[in-house]
Amino acid sequence: MLSGKVNHNSILAYITDVIDCSVECRGADALYSGFSMREIAWMHAMCRVRDVFKATSNEAHAEEGDVEHELSILRGYANDQSSIYDGFMLQSMYSSMIDPEESSLEHVHVILTDRLIATYREEDMRYHLNTVVLGYPSIVSISGIVEAPAKPRAFYTLYYYYISQGITVNMDELKHLFRDAMLDHDDPRLTDAVKGYIMHAVFYSMLNDSPFCDEKGCMLYNSHWQDEVIQAQVSGGMCERHRAVLKEFNGK
Ligand SMILES: [Zn+2]
Repeated sequence: MLSGKVNHNSILAYITDVIDCSVECRGADALYSGFSMREIAWMHAMCRVRDVFKATSNEAHAEEGDVEHELSILRGYANDQSSIYDGFMLQSMYSSMIDPEESSLEHVHVILTDRLIATYREEDMRYHLNTVVLGYPSIVSISGIVEAPAKPRAFYTLYYYYISQGITVNMDELKHLFRDAMLDHDDPRLTDAVKGYIMHAVFYSMLNDSPFCDEKGCMLYNSHWQDEVIQAQVSGGMCERHRAVLKEFNGK
Protein backbone atom coordinates (compact mmCIF):
# COMPACT_ATOMS: atom_id res chain seq x y z
CA MET A 1 0.00 0.00 0.00
CA LEU A 2 1.82 3.10 -1.22
CA SER A 3 -1.15 5.44 -1.02
CA GLY A 4 -2.91 7.37 1.72
CA LYS A 5 -5.79 8.54 -0.48
CA VAL A 6 -8.12 5.63 0.11
CA ASN A 7 -9.66 3.91 3.10
CA HIS A 8 -7.40 0.90 3.68
CA ASN A 9 -9.68 -0.70 6.29
CA SER A 10 -12.69 -0.58 3.99
CA ILE A 11 -10.69 -2.17 1.14
CA LEU A 12 -9.26 -4.87 3.41
CA ALA A 13 -12.73 -5.66 4.85
CA TYR A 14 -14.20 -5.99 1.35
CA ILE A 15 -11.48 -8.26 -0.05
CA THR A 16 -11.51 -10.41 3.10
CA ASP A 17 -15.28 -10.74 2.77
CA VAL A 18 -15.38 -11.86 -0.87
CA ILE A 19 -12.29 -14.07 -1.08
CA ASP A 20 -11.84 -17.10 1.09
CA CYS A 21 -8.13 -16.76 1.79
CA SER A 22 -5.74 -14.87 4.03
CA VAL A 23 -5.59 -11.18 3.10
CA GLU A 24 -3.05 -8.70 4.45
CA CYS A 25 -2.63 -4.97 4.00
CA ARG A 26 0.96 -3.78 4.33
CA GLY A 27 2.57 -0.38 4.27
CA ALA A 28 5.34 0.78 1.98
CA ASP A 29 7.95 -0.19 4.59
CA ALA A 30 7.23 -3.88 4.02
CA LEU A 31 7.92 -3.57 0.29
CA TYR A 32 10.96 -1.31 0.65
CA SER A 33 12.53 -3.35 3.45
CA GLY A 34 16.26 -3.90 2.87
CA PHE A 35 16.67 -0.93 0.52
CA SER A 36 17.98 2.50 1.41
CA MET A 37 15.81 5.53 0.69
CA ARG A 38 18.26 6.64 -2.00
CA GLU A 39 18.17 3.23 -3.71
CA ILE A 40 14.36 3.31 -3.80
CA ALA A 41 14.43 6.90 -5.12
CA TRP A 42 16.98 5.94 -7.76
CA MET A 43 14.91 2.94 -8.92
CA HIS A 44 11.77 5.07 -9.23
CA ALA A 45 13.72 7.74 -11.13
CA MET A 46 14.81 5.02 -13.59
CA CYS A 47 11.15 4.24 -14.33
CA ARG A 48 10.15 7.82 -15.16
CA VAL A 49 8.72 8.45 -18.62
CA ARG A 50 10.56 11.48 -20.03
CA ASP A 51 9.03 11.42 -23.49
CA VAL A 52 5.59 9.86 -24.08
CA PHE A 53 6.66 9.02 -27.64
CA LYS A 54 9.74 7.00 -26.59
CA ALA A 55 9.73 3.70 -24.71
CA THR A 56 11.64 4.42 -21.49
CA SER A 57 12.85 0.83 -21.14
CA ASN A 58 15.10 1.32 -24.19
CA GLU A 59 17.17 4.02 -22.56
CA ALA A 60 16.45 3.93 -18.83
CA HIS A 61 18.67 6.13 -16.75
CA ALA A 62 18.27 8.17 -13.61
CA GLU A 63 19.13 11.85 -13.45
CA GLU A 64 20.28 13.29 -10.15
CA GLY A 65 17.52 15.91 -10.15
CA ASP A 66 14.91 13.16 -10.55
CA VAL A 67 16.48 11.11 -7.73
CA GLU A 68 16.29 14.15 -5.43
CA HIS A 69 12.65 14.71 -6.43
CA GLU A 70 11.86 11.05 -5.74
CA LEU A 71 13.47 11.40 -2.32
CA SER A 72 11.12 14.32 -1.61
CA ILE A 73 8.13 12.21 -2.63
CA LEU A 74 9.24 9.27 -0.48
CA ARG A 75 9.78 11.57 2.52
CA GLY A 76 6.31 13.07 2.02
CA TYR A 77 7.57 16.56 1.14
CA ALA A 78 6.34 16.49 -2.45
CA ASN A 79 3.03 15.39 -3.90
CA ASP A 80 3.65 14.72 -7.56
CA GLN A 81 0.56 14.13 -9.68
CA SER A 82 2.12 14.89 -13.03
CA SER A 83 5.14 12.59 -13.38
CA ILE A 84 4.45 9.40 -15.30
CA TYR A 85 6.16 6.04 -14.71
CA ASP A 86 6.58 3.09 -17.05
CA GLY A 87 4.14 0.53 -15.62
CA PHE A 88 6.09 -2.54 -16.67
CA MET A 89 9.39 -1.17 -15.37
CA LEU A 90 7.74 -0.37 -12.03
CA GLN A 91 6.26 -3.85 -12.00
CA SER A 92 9.66 -5.41 -12.58
CA MET A 93 11.17 -3.24 -9.82
CA TYR A 94 8.45 -4.10 -7.30
CA SER A 95 8.69 -7.77 -8.26
CA SER A 96 12.36 -7.79 -7.27
CA MET A 97 11.42 -6.31 -3.86
CA ILE A 98 8.92 -9.03 -2.94
CA ASP A 99 10.05 -11.56 -0.34
CA PRO A 100 11.21 -14.67 -2.29
CA GLU A 101 9.19 -16.83 0.12
CA GLU A 102 6.07 -15.13 -1.21
CA SER A 103 7.11 -15.33 -4.84
CA SER A 104 4.80 -18.14 -5.83
CA LEU A 105 1.44 -18.46 -7.53
CA GLU A 106 -0.05 -19.09 -4.09
CA HIS A 107 0.32 -15.37 -3.42
CA VAL A 108 -1.35 -12.45 -5.16
CA HIS A 109 0.41 -9.13 -4.62
CA VAL A 110 -1.28 -5.85 -5.50
CA ILE A 111 0.55 -2.55 -5.14
CA LEU A 112 -1.64 0.54 -4.64
CA THR A 113 0.17 3.70 -5.64
CA ASP A 114 -0.52 7.41 -6.06
CA ARG A 115 1.94 7.54 -8.96
CA LEU A 116 0.65 7.85 -12.52
CA ILE A 117 1.55 4.78 -14.54
CA ALA A 118 1.53 4.28 -18.28
CA THR A 119 2.42 1.59 -20.77
CA TYR A 120 3.93 2.04 -24.22
CA ARG A 121 1.88 0.73 -27.13
CA GLU A 122 3.61 -0.19 -30.35
CA GLU A 123 0.39 0.40 -32.38
CA ASP A 124 0.56 4.15 -32.03
CA MET A 125 4.10 4.34 -30.61
CA ARG A 126 3.26 6.29 -27.47
CA TYR A 127 2.51 5.85 -23.79
CA HIS A 128 -1.05 5.61 -22.49
CA LEU A 129 -2.05 6.11 -18.87
CA ASN A 130 -3.34 3.07 -17.01
CA THR A 131 -5.63 2.45 -14.07
CA VAL A 132 -4.08 -0.96 -13.49
CA VAL A 133 -1.13 -2.96 -14.79
CA LEU A 134 -1.83 -6.65 -14.31
CA GLY A 135 0.90 -9.16 -13.61
CA TYR A 136 3.30 -10.02 -10.84
CA PRO A 137 2.68 -7.88 -8.89
CA SER A 138 -0.35 -6.03 -10.21
CA ILE A 139 -0.24 -2.26 -9.74
CA VAL A 140 -3.35 -0.12 -9.22
CA SER A 141 -2.77 3.60 -9.81
CA ILE A 142 -5.14 5.70 -7.75
CA SER A 143 -4.23 8.87 -9.66
CA GLY A 144 -4.66 6.78 -12.81
CA ILE A 145 -8.29 6.02 -11.90
CA VAL A 146 -8.87 9.79 -12.08
CA GLU A 147 -6.67 10.58 -15.07
CA ALA A 148 -6.61 7.52 -17.36
CA PRO A 149 -10.31 6.97 -18.25
CA ALA A 150 -11.65 9.80 -20.40
CA LYS A 151 -13.82 12.46 -18.81
CA PRO A 152 -17.34 13.03 -20.24
CA ARG A 153 -17.38 14.53 -23.76
CA ALA A 154 -19.52 17.41 -22.50
CA PHE A 155 -16.78 18.24 -19.98
CA TYR A 156 -14.22 18.75 -22.75
CA THR A 157 -16.77 20.59 -24.93
CA LEU A 158 -17.55 23.07 -22.17
CA TYR A 159 -13.87 23.41 -21.25
CA TYR A 160 -12.83 24.28 -24.81
CA TYR A 161 -15.88 26.53 -25.25
CA TYR A 162 -14.76 28.61 -22.26
CA ILE A 163 -11.21 28.76 -23.62
CA SER A 164 -12.46 29.84 -27.08
CA GLN A 165 -14.50 32.62 -25.49
CA GLY A 166 -11.52 33.81 -23.44
CA ILE A 167 -13.30 32.85 -20.21
CA THR A 168 -11.07 31.77 -17.33
CA VAL A 169 -11.97 28.20 -16.48
CA ASN A 170 -12.58 27.43 -12.83
CA MET A 171 -11.65 23.73 -12.84
CA ASP A 172 -13.17 23.07 -9.41
CA GLU A 173 -16.51 24.44 -10.55
CA LEU A 174 -16.34 22.55 -13.82
CA LYS A 175 -15.50 19.28 -12.06
CA HIS A 176 -18.30 19.87 -9.56
CA LEU A 177 -20.76 20.28 -12.42
CA PHE A 178 -19.81 16.82 -13.73
CA ARG A 179 -19.34 15.12 -10.34
CA ASP A 180 -21.92 12.42 -11.12
CA ALA A 181 -19.97 11.33 -14.19
CA MET A 182 -16.34 11.62 -13.12
CA LEU A 183 -14.03 11.14 -10.16
CA ASP A 184 -11.58 13.60 -8.69
CA HIS A 185 -8.32 13.17 -6.75
CA ASP A 186 -9.87 13.67 -3.32
CA ASP A 187 -13.01 11.71 -4.15
CA PRO A 188 -14.18 9.26 -1.43
CA ARG A 189 -15.56 7.04 -4.23
CA LEU A 190 -11.95 6.14 -5.11
CA THR A 191 -11.99 3.61 -2.28
CA ASP A 192 -14.75 1.60 -3.97
CA ALA A 193 -13.13 2.01 -7.38
CA VAL A 194 -9.91 0.53 -5.97
CA LYS A 195 -11.82 -2.53 -4.72
CA GLY A 196 -12.96 -3.15 -8.30
CA TYR A 197 -9.44 -2.88 -9.68
CA ILE A 198 -8.02 -5.15 -6.98
CA MET A 199 -10.59 -7.72 -8.09
CA HIS A 200 -9.19 -7.37 -11.63
CA ALA A 201 -5.81 -8.40 -10.20
CA VAL A 202 -7.30 -11.27 -8.21
CA PHE A 203 -9.20 -12.66 -11.20
CA TYR A 204 -6.14 -12.23 -13.41
CA SER A 205 -4.11 -14.35 -10.98
CA MET A 206 -6.89 -16.92 -10.53
CA LEU A 207 -7.56 -17.33 -14.25
CA ASN A 208 -4.07 -16.52 -15.51
CA ASP A 209 -5.87 -14.73 -18.31
CA SER A 210 -7.68 -11.48 -19.08
CA PRO A 211 -10.15 -10.80 -16.27
CA PHE A 212 -12.19 -8.29 -18.24
CA CYS A 213 -15.96 -8.63 -18.46
CA ASP A 214 -18.34 -7.45 -21.20
CA GLU A 215 -21.07 -6.45 -18.77
CA LYS A 216 -20.98 -2.72 -17.98
CA GLY A 217 -22.38 -3.23 -14.50
CA CYS A 218 -19.71 -5.77 -13.51
CA MET A 219 -16.72 -4.48 -11.54
CA LEU A 220 -14.51 -6.44 -13.93
CA TYR A 221 -15.59 -4.32 -16.89
CA ASN A 222 -12.65 -2.65 -18.67
CA SER A 223 -13.74 0.98 -18.26
CA HIS A 224 -12.40 3.55 -20.70
CA TRP A 225 -14.63 6.43 -19.59
CA GLN A 226 -15.06 7.98 -16.16
CA ASP A 227 -18.81 7.31 -16.09
CA GLU A 228 -18.05 3.64 -16.83
CA VAL A 229 -15.71 3.52 -13.81
CA ILE A 230 -18.54 4.91 -11.66
CA GLN A 231 -21.02 2.40 -13.10
CA ALA A 232 -18.74 -0.65 -13.00
CA GLN A 233 -16.01 -0.28 -10.37
CA VAL A 234 -17.70 2.16 -7.93
CA SER A 235 -21.36 1.12 -8.05
CA GLY A 236 -21.23 -2.20 -9.85
CA GLY A 237 -21.38 -5.60 -8.27
CA MET A 238 -20.15 -8.77 -9.84
CA CYS A 239 -22.01 -10.35 -12.76
CA GLU A 240 -23.50 -13.82 -12.46
CA ARG A 241 -20.66 -15.46 -14.41
CA HIS A 242 -17.93 -13.93 -12.28
CA ARG A 243 -19.83 -14.62 -9.06
CA ALA A 244 -19.87 -18.28 -10.10
CA VAL A 245 -16.09 -18.26 -10.76
CA LEU A 246 -15.48 -16.74 -7.35
CA LYS A 247 -17.83 -19.20 -5.68
CA GLU A 248 -15.98 -22.10 -7.26
CA PHE A 249 -12.63 -20.63 -6.11
CA ASN A 250 -13.91 -20.12 -2.57
CA GLY A 251 -15.37 -23.64 -2.51
CA LYS A 252 -12.05 -25.30 -3.22
ZN1 LIG B 1 -18.37 -10.03 -14.98
